[in-house]
Amino acid sequence: MVINHQNKIKIPVTELEQSAFCQDGSNFRTKTLEQEFKAGVRWQKIPTRYLKLKPEEIKSSISELKKALGEKVVILGHHYQREDVIEFSDLQGDSFLLSKLAAETKDAEVIIFCGVHFMAETAEILSSNKQKVILPNMAAGCSMADMASTEEVQRCWKELSDIFDSDSDKQPVIPVTYMNSTASIKSLCGQNNGIVCTSSNAKQAFDWAYDRGERILFVPDQHLGRNTAKDYGIKESEMVIWDPYKKNGGLSVDEIINSKIILWKGHCSVHTRFSVKQIENAKIKNPDVNILVHPECTNEVVSKADYVGSTEYIKNIVHQAKPGTSWAIGTEINLVKRLSHTYTDKNIFCLDEMVCPCATMYRVHPAYLLWVLEGLVAGFVINQISVDDNDQKFSKLSLQRMLDLPK
Ligand code: SF4
Repeated sequence: MVINHQNKIKIPVTELEQSAFCQDGSNFRTKTLEQEFKAGVRWQKIPTRYLKLKPEEIKSSISELKKALGEKVVILGHHYQREDVIEFSDLQGDSFLLSKLAAETKDAEVIIFCGVHFMAETAEILSSNKQKVILPNMAAGCSMADMASTEEVQRCWKELSDIFDSDSDKQPVIPVTYMNSTASIKSLCGQNNGIVCTSSNAKQAFDWAYDRGERILFVPDQHLGRNTAKDYGIKESEMVIWDPYKKNGGLSVDEIINSKIILWKGHCSVHTRFSVKQIENAKIKNPDVNILVHPECTNEVVSKADYVGSTEYIKNIVHQAKPGTSWAIGTEINLVKRLSHTYTDKNIFCLDEMVCPCATMYRVHPAYLLWVLEGLVAGFVINQISVDDNDQKFSKLSLQRMLDLPK
């Protein structure tokens, strides 16, 4: 964590590192680990023999090892992973789909999760006790998840509990956490009649929560929370922002009591790059262009977009679009590039002209995948994810509530 001494706000290192891999788009390809280390972000240490391996050498070794390990290992790949990793994944999806797949993947002894830490943790919670979950690079976190530490959310919950009368008919606050959070935060939701959601099912999670409580504490993405609340008909005046660095989130007791939703002050460093100006520029260049964005974008951007939805929604909309149509997409660049290569009969491009992959997702360089596969062949489980028993029990509860939501 880095402390800004003027206002004492802690900025996660992952947020500061987010632009490390940005470039103008002309030469976006996997380099050797040694070259990529120059980006200046924190990487997990890896034996030096992997540093100089060329991408082609890594590819052929991964293919051989995958064959040797067979069905013992399943590789899950998040849509934001680079192409050189996704080509080795057995199953692809967004965090919601992959969490379901992890729960359904009963045969594999080992799940290698090519994604970020909270996703691998979720796979560990939902998979069976006999299965092991591996994250190839332990430095692959998420800057949004890092904006809500377990201690900060526990403190928030205690402060809110001190404000409300526990005798009300409905629970005063229902904790709802976005998937992008620690297992301990999911566990807090499980223990306090709360639920987990993703961008695919946030609306259903709101239905679930408002059936049971007066208001929602939504952690950690203020934008997904605000966008979903607006669609739900909640007024701006009924939304408040919880600043974790201030007592009672910087809010008066009246502001909290009069709210319908308390939004944690967190955001995605990738999706908040998209702007109204970029939309205007895209429309000037081509008035017929369709603007398609993810709900982690700001409300100003979402309000100007033609289509808004989760990663799976974005994929489906593009799949169904007519040939010849144009799509400016506001989401992670690896997915946008994959869509543009898949649907060559449509004009698909990123809303942001700079190419900025998610810098934590990008840390799953193929050399890390090779490293953990070689470990398995040699009988070692490298980078196994574990979750303590209490968190396991209660986070499973809040995740199961999410998996049970109506479609
Ligand atoms: S795209 Fe945003 S929310 Fe997703 S892993 Fe990267 S930083 Fe986290």
